[in-house]
Amino acid sequence: MSLLGFLGGRAERPAPKPAAVAAPKPAAPPRSVGARREFRGLLWFPVLTVSDGDKLVVSARAGLPHCPHCLRPLALAADGSERWACAACGRVSPACDADFFAMEAVVAACARDFLAKHPDFRPGPALPASARA
Ligand SMILES: [Zn+2]
Repeated sequence: MSLLGFLGGRAERPAPKPAAVAAPKPAAPPRSVGARREFRGLLWFPVLTVSDGDKLVVSARAGLPHCPHCLRPLALAADGSERWACAACGRVSPACDADFFAMEAVVAACARDFLAKHPDFRPGPALPASARA
């Protein structure tokens, strides 16, 4: 067999069938990713909402601070003082305007951690600017 015939013969072979085309998967619903952080002596369990389909960190929320001893969510003291109180152990922590910034800092740190571990994801527009740095 000539070289041309050989090549031609090869070319005449049926091409391998393409792998069965998988049916497009329905977009997975966004999932929640929990984290744990200590900030200003309080424990936080921020939750990120991420979309695996869009590779997007959709949103993040800090939630309430938690008692570092009981892991229970803290509530503002019932006496109207600016304090976080633990209903279980009675531990009281000062609350202040800085807690608002603490929440944002917790959320931003949580989002940055996730993005560092998942470089194919990007931050969504709903995240605070500090989470995208
Ligand atoms: Zn407690």
